[in-house]
Amino acid sequence: AHLARIEAVDEKVHAFLHVDREGALAQARAVDEKRARGEKLGPLAGVPLALKDIFTTEGVPTTVGSKILEGWIPPYDATVTKRLKEAGVVILGKTNMDEFAMGSSTENSAYGPTGNPWDLTRIPGGSGGGSSAALAAYEAPLAIGTDTGGSIRQPAAVTGTVGVKPTYGGVSRYGMVAFSSSLDQGGPCARTVLDAALLHEAIAGHDPLDSTSIDAPVPQVVEAARNGSVQGMRVGVVKQFRGEGYQAGVVQRFDESVELLKSLGATVVELDCPSFDLGLSAYYLIAPSECSSNLARFDAMRYGLRVGDDGTKSAEEVTALTREAGFGDEVKRRVMLGTYALSSGYYDAYYGSAQKVRTLITRDFEKAFEQVDVIVSPTTPTTAFPIGERADDPMAMYLADLCTIPTNLAGNAAMSLPCGLAPEDGLPVGLQIIAPAMKDDRLYKVGAAVE
Ligand code: GLN
Repeated sequence: AHLARIEAVDEKVHAFLHVDREGALAQARAVDEKRARGEKLGPLAGVPLALKDIFTTEGVPTTVGSKILEGWIPPYDATVTKRLKEAGVVILGKTNMDEFAMGSSTENSAYGPTGNPWDLTRIPGGSGGGSSAALAAYEAPLAIGTDTGGSIRQPAAVTGTVGVKPTYGGVSRYGMVAFSSSLDQGGPCARTVLDAALLHEAIAGHDPLDSTSIDAPVPQVVEAARNGSVQGMRVGVVKQFRGEGYQAGVVQRFDESVELLKSLGATVVELDCPSFDLGLSAYYLIAPSECSSNLARFDAMRYGLRVGDDGTKSAEEVTALTREAGFGDEVKRRVMLGTYALSSGYYDAYYGSAQKVRTLITRDFEKAFEQVDVIVSPTTPTTAFPIGERADDPMAMYLADLCTIPTNLAGNAAMSLPCGLAPEDGLPVGLQIIAPAMKDDRLYKVGAAVE
């Protein structure tokens, strides 16, 4: 049914870069056979899923939304892919994304934009716009995204779906193409909080193949999602997450959510986190710096595209020609920015300062979580904007992640879930819930209570 749905609507939505019809049907049949044999199956066995094209899939193309990986077929599965298969999940295909996960609208994909199913002329968020559009268009009931600065939560917010960035280290990064290694985190996308929890549990947990993977029990997210409550909880509202640039309807729905939390028995506490104002600036030094180092591996020798290899050019010329043709504008912009910020003489002023700000943000969170159990905010300052509106204005684009970035810098956990439609444009608004590291279960407890 989902393959038929994809066939019917994806020409318009363009959520998928690759549909793996044969692989999906084979996995579905394998689950059926196990069921017929009376084998014990997990809760997600046979459930279809859309996988962001940043996770390697053995024998299935993986492009990361870039021309530089066009034609590359990975010889191995990412840990997330492997765990999905072990859970009996049916991977329908790979979803569209901003090239190398750099963007907030999916317009930076080398393979063309994705439409927001609520209004196809608007962006579905990014970088994981394909995954959230697939959910909103009923092409898949589950999806996987990655969140470096907001790429799970912001697409969830603007498509009226649920998305969770787990605690950094909660989900393995092995086989997830690296953008900014100290920030990148894979996580679940779904249409309900409980669905997200079931998926979270299936993919999370220690992985010796990822040195930053946390070796501790996975937070009890499914149990929390089944027992939603905010009774007696202290909920923080951060002063810095409002003001100029926030759409009126977004603020209105957020304020209503805060009232709802109070009526359900939560105590609301006002918080001051002054260093959050510097989050965006610190992120746009740290993420490009790490990306300039990570993307050095695309040298035309190892993967995918190779341009100008006609026997007359040096290896350096072939690398340069391949990068020129294979990387898009945003990727080039970030590699240049990052290379500059890391160069000797500038390192302390830029990268070093950004790392200090990162520490201050972490401290602001620590202080906040002495007073509250969770923090809430709008996920993103505005609803889905029209395709093309911010495409030529990187600064305007970067503002979409104002509320999501501090969590990535500190490494703790956050969820976005729908909290109504903005009255002025009828488009979905996202409520963000933020929890301390390894307390991911609180997101689900609160999320299930207000869903
Ligand atoms: N929009 C942010 C960026 O462009 C975040 C992207 C992400 O989380 N992958 O970097």
